[in-house]
Amino acid sequence: MRLRHILKIVLFVLALFGLGWLYVTGVASLSDLVARYLRGDLFSRSAEPLPDGEWEWVAETDHFVYYARTGDTIPRWAIEMHESVLAQVAGVLDVTVASKIRYFRYASQGDIYDAIAQRSTGVTRAGDEGIEIHSTQRYHPHEVAHAVIHQQWDPPAFLDEGLATVYGWDWDVPEADVHVHAYKFLQEERLLPVASILTNWGFHLYKTYPAYSTAGSFMKYLLDARDPKAMRALLRLEKFSQRQELEDAFLDAYGETIYEVEREWQDALAAGMFSQPAPAAPITTERTAMLLSGAVLLAGLFLSSVVAIVMAERAFASLVRASRWLLHFGATNHTSGVLAARNGE
Ligand SMILES: [Zn+2]
Repeated sequence: MRLRHILKIVLFVLALFGLGWLYVTGVASLSDLVARYLRGDLFSRSAEPLPDGEWEWVAETDHFVYYARTGDTIPRWAIEMHESVLAQVAGVLDVTVASKIRYFRYASQGDIYDAIAQRSTGVTRAGDEGIEIHSTQRYHPHEVAHAVIHQQWDPPAFLDEGLATVYGWDWDVPEADVHVHAYKFLQEERLLPVASILTNWGFHLYKTYPAYSTAGSFMKYLLDARDPKAMRALLRLEKFSQRQELEDAFLDAYGETIYEVEREWQDALAAGMFSQPAPAAPITTERTAMLLSGAVLLAGLFLSSVVAIVMAERAFASLVRASRWLLHFGATNHTSGVLAARNGE
């Protein structure tokens, strides 16, 4: 009987946790849906034309035209660095950038989402007047690399994101070399097998950080260790190419399989050829400590919920008992009063 009671309480608390979880995840997606519905763009993810009044022309260089929100600006050094990144990527891939790239600097991720319905810190895409970069950053070499690639091609994410990540990504500041990130993943045995991320679909199945680091480091190695112009043959591949198509194109372009180069690259990474070992120990301890404190917090929350419910139930029971007793007491008193009155008659 007692055990059944406790079991009931435990089940109740578990149900509460479940409801809480559903609430948190549900509200997020629901509010997103409601917001989009109210704005009337529930079914269209395409961008509306950018209202001219909202953008201020900031600068124009040989290959870029910059726009920012009113009062915002883009530093001169970033504008110069973009030109040099563009020259570097275009040189490596032998690409001509014919029309100017329009660069829009947004105030926040929310601002980007409102304008083009994409959740990102940076998006490169084809616009009415050629390639456009939409970014929350004032300096965004990763998107500049995309903008060069997309002058001619629209390859699978492994190539597109891998190559763009060679030139930069939203790493911690100061931005470390992509090989440093890959080396860390290799040490933690989290470096992804290249075969699993060759297709666009496969690539996006993985979390961004390991997928971008793996592809980025591999592409950087490939650029440095082989003829960079050979990559043009790969970039011609259509975005949704099959794995076999990628493997065949690689074999044609480089005269060896992608997996042979993968082994070579991993060996070089393991030998520490590109990266200084990161101070892994303190990070791991910090992570373990965070995990432990999280578990302790959760257990504490669970136990305190059980205790709170048991106590509330007890309090309620005694309240009921007290009111019953009061009612009973009142009733007997009333009866005796009536009896006394009758007696006095
Ligand atoms: Zn990208």
